[in-house]
Amino acid sequence: MKKIVTVLGARPQFIKASVVSQALSATGRLREVLVHTGQHFDANMSEVFFRELAMSAPAYNLDIHGGTHGAMTGRMLADVERILISERPDAALVYGDTNSTIAGALAAAKLHIPVAHVEAGLRSFNLRMPEEINRILTDRISHWLFAPTDTAVRNLMAEGVAESQILEVGDVMYDVALQHGARANGAGGIVDHLGLGGQPYVLATIHRAENTDDTDRLNTLVDALTIVARKRPVIWPIHPRTRQLLARRCRPEAALRGMHLLDPIGYLSMIELEKNAAAIATDSGGVQKEAFFHRVPCVTLRDETEWVELVQAGWNRLAPPRSAEAVASAIEAAIGSQGQPVTPYGQGNSATQIAARLCRDL
Ligand code: UDP
Repeated sequence: MKKIVTVLGARPQFIKASVVSQALSATGRLREVLVHTGQHFDANMSEVFFRELAMSAPAYNLDIHGGTHGAMTGRMLADVERILISERPDAALVYGDTNSTIAGALAAAKLHIPVAHVEAGLRSFNLRMPEEINRILTDRISHWLFAPTDTAVRNLMAEGVAESQILEVGDVMYDVALQHGARANGAGGIVDHLGLGGQPYVLATIHRAENTDDTDRLNTLVDALTIVARKRPVIWPIHPRTRQLLARRCRPEAALRGMHLLDPIGYLSMIELEKNAAAIATDSGGVQKEAFFHRVPCVTLRDETEWVELVQAGWNRLAPPRSAEAVASAIEAAIGSQGQPVTPYGQGNSATQIAARLCRDL
C-alpha cells in the first residue's frame, strides 16, 4: 500500500475530494490520510459535505481559520509539515487555489514529497486575487498537474511546465455532478420549502475577496440583486465572510428586502436550486461550471474568469460589478439564453484517471 496525505480545508475542496477519495480507495493500492486544515469550519461549510457526499472523517483537523493570509498560511504550513514528517507519505494531494492548497503543497515539496495538484493550470491573470497567487505557486512546485481543461493545459505550457507533468483529466466537479447531482431533485426539497415551485427565480452567490472586501463593489452587487428582486425571486445563500462584511461595511440587510437570504446550504440543496433556476449570478468558480452542467445560463460577477470556455460558448457572460443597472440587465438578458453544445470538462471520469495515474507512478 502506498500512502497519500491529502490536505484540504475549504468547501469546494470537500466537494472535489468526495469523488477522488473514493477513486483512490477503489484502487486497493492507495491509502489516503485526510488533513482538514479547518479553513472552513462551520457545520454548513464543512461537516454537511462529509455527510452528504459520504466521505470519511479527516484523520487530522488543524482548526486553523481566521487572521491574515500570511498568519493563516503560516500556521497551516507548520502544522502540515509536522504531520507529513510523522506520516511519511509517498505523495501529497491538494485541490484548487486556497491557503490550504499552497500550505499543503509547500510543506510537502520542501520535504521532497511529490505533490499532486488537482485543478492545475487555471489562471485569471489577475495577481491581485489571492487564489491566483496560490495557484501559480502550487503548480510550480507540483509533480503531477491534473488539468481540467484544454485552456489549463495551454496556460501551463505557456509557463514552461514540462509536458510530461501535465495530465488533462477533465474536471472532477463534473464527476461529482454526475454522481450526486441526480439525488438533488424531488418533491419536498428546498425549492418547495421556499415556495418557488414553477417561478422563474435567480440564484446568487458572492464570496470572492475582490467583491466582498471592496465596499463599492459589494454595494453595487447588492443594488443589482435588489433591482432583479423587484421582478422575480432572488435566492442568495450567503457565505459567512460575505454576511460579516454586509453587516459591517455595506448596506444593512434590511435593504435586501424581497430576497431570500439563506445561510450556506448543503450540496444537494444547492444543486437543486441551481437546476431549477432561470439564471445564476455568481463569482464562484464551481457554481459557474455547475450552471453549465445543468444547462442554466450564468452571469459571472467579476472582471474575468478562469473558465473562459463557457463564456466563449455562450453559457456564461461577465458582468463586472461597476454599475448596478448594468449587472441587473445582464442577469435579465441571460434568462432564457442558451449556449453552444460543448463538452470542455471531460467525460465525468476525472477521479478514476487521477487515481490510476497516481497508482501507476507510485
Ligand atoms: N455550494 C454549496 N452551498 C452553498 C454555496 C455553494 O454547496 O451555499 C457549493 C456549490 O454547489 C459548488 C461549491 O460549493 O459545488 C462552490 O464552492 P465556492 O463557491 O465556495 O468556491 P469556488 O468554487 O469559487 O472555489
